[in-house]
Amino acid sequence: MKQANIRNFSIIAHIDHGKSTLADQIMAQTHTITPRESKAQLLDDMAVEQAHGITVKSRTVRNYYTADDGQHYEYNFIDTPGHVDFSYEVAKSLAASDGAILLVDATQGVQAQTVANFRIAKQNGLVIIPVINKIDSAAADIPRTTAQIKQLDPALEKATILKISAKTGEGVHDVLEAIKAVIPAPDGHKTAPLKALVFDYQYNAYKGIIAYVRIIDGQLKRDDAALLMAKNTKLSVSELGHFAPNMVPEASLTVGDVGYVVTGLKDPQAVRVGDTLTLINQPAKLALAGYQPAKAMVFAGFYPKDGNYSDLKAAIEKLALNDAAFQFKPENSEALGAGFRCGFLGMLHLQIIRERLQKEYDLDVLTTAPNVTYQVYLKGTSEPMIVTNPIKYPDFATIDHVAEPFVKAEITTPSELLNDVMKLAEQHKGTLLDMNNQADLVVLTYKMPISEIAYDFFNQLKSISHGYATLDTSPLDYEVADLVKIEVDINYAPVDALAFVAHRQDAPRLTQALVKKLKYTVPRKLYAMPVQAIVEGKAIARVDVPPLRKNAAVAGGKKSVSKKQALLRRQSMNKRQAAKNTIVLPQEVFNAVLELD
Ligand code: GDP
Ligand code: MG
Repeated sequence: MKQANIRNFSIIAHIDHGKSTLADQIMAQTHTITPRESKAQLLDDMAVEQAHGITVKSRTVRNYYTADDGQHYEYNFIDTPGHVDFSYEVAKSLAASDGAILLVDATQGVQAQTVANFRIAKQNGLVIIPVINKIDSAAADIPRTTAQIKQLDPALEKATILKISAKTGEGVHDVLEAIKAVIPAPDGHKTAPLKALVFDYQYNAYKGIIAYVRIIDGQLKRDDAALLMAKNTKLSVSELGHFAPNMVPEASLTVGDVGYVVTGLKDPQAVRVGDTLTLINQPAKLALAGYQPAKAMVFAGFYPKDGNYSDLKAAIEKLALNDAAFQFKPENSEALGAGFRCGFLGMLHLQIIRERLQKEYDLDVLTTAPNVTYQVYLKGTSEPMIVTNPIKYPDFATIDHVAEPFVKAEITTPSELLNDVMKLAEQHKGTLLDMNNQADLVVLTYKMPISEIAYDFFNQLKSISHGYATLDTSPLDYEVADLVKIEVDINYAPVDALAFVAHRQDAPRLTQALVKKLKYTVPRKLYAMPVQAIVEGKAIARVDVPPLRKNAAVAGGKKSVSKKQALLRRQSMNKRQAAKNTIVLPQEVFNAVLELD
């Protein structure tokens, strides 16, 4: 295909605004797939694909389009991971595009991810095509959605906003014509040394790691000896081609093309999003800008719910192959047995992994309280001990001081919400570093502990701003903090998997909330059981889990004395027997810790 007739684009949208449906519709209208194939939201059946193993289908797809001008075009749709935890990866896949369709659901209007992804697209210099979706819906509010899109950016005030139904296909032809007319053809030079941007990858049991690339400069052919520049990893290109949406092998990929490269590499750590692929014979002098490894920020324990450790192990290992940011290693808990300590980009990432284990592997996991990485300086030592697990947090008497990681948090909010947003940031121990006005938006820069933003901060921000405020974070250094380990005893026995680390000043509030929740979630026994939260050896909160039955000594006033005595005898026997059984804790108990804020 002539370079001038190639278009590389992404769709940016809030979740559920119709990205997959539109991608499907584009494939159907360009005859990349048949109408029958398009029926079943073809791009969304990862699970099916994994079950069959061999064919690799991608959400990143090449379509051939014959435009109204009679010319043929190559339309590469580049899919982006849809979540805020992955904003770095979103940025990389957008960097592989020259334009983006900004898709907004007419029944919902502009939402947080619309704004956040729009900003990333703008930073990458992408041409934007604003599109309103779901116009077929009775709940569509087109005037309101139009006004919201225009408010997003001065550049959008005068833009033509297309109106479509991705579901029925109405208006999608106009989108196809706009892609050709508005989005520029790729630049770059065919004869320059190869620079291919790796914007995504996938692990396949048969082929190893398949890198998704956009050729920025040069050309890549089958059997070329190539090099990944981030870690100097050499590889031989055994196969390359494009997705339609299955793999279609080709002899070469050339400047402007988007496609896949079978690297033959088996180690998932070898390929990173943002890496640059070049040729060993004629290497590029400089890698493409901005390679950054994704780093786990939040850690939590995963334990098999029904005790099936080997199933969980197999599933976790498979998930990690396709998600470089997800880490795991085995750990043991007295309360829960063998499990894994897992590392995530944030709480949303944790939830996504949990859902994938549920949906794709039919596995329910018990999840323990999340925490960040702490640097614990023991008395008389100068090197910190790195703690990612509250179970391993040393005894307070041996600790000199503790440091925790901080981030720079950039919050963009409409000016009228400034006070609420600042209040929220301060509640989360934010220190204001900078404040900037941009039209009727304010950009606030805070320094905050990661522990404060990693859990629920984003949801709270979204909720107080009705979806309009956005959050961008970048890591800062560790700083000393006043932290304590909170241990939880149930019936005088410590439950290690319920322990967590918190700021000392928050401990009273958190533990009060926790024991209240535990009162109703710890499975009852025939007798009352105290639940205690313990900090540095002292119980700072306590409730009693009520007994399963009324106490014979108090209840049943009408019963005869001998009947009461018999009941009491039975109860005390049950109590002795029950004390021998360990308490089996349901996920609700752990949710009590997970949901604290
Ligand atoms: P994504 O999360 O952005 O990929 O959204 P999906 O494409 O999965 O769509 C989310 C939901 O909206 C699905 O139930 C779709 O069937 C529905 N949907 C998508 N486009 C339209 C549309 O044009 N009209 C209507 N009524 N529903 C749509
Ligand atoms: Mg989707």
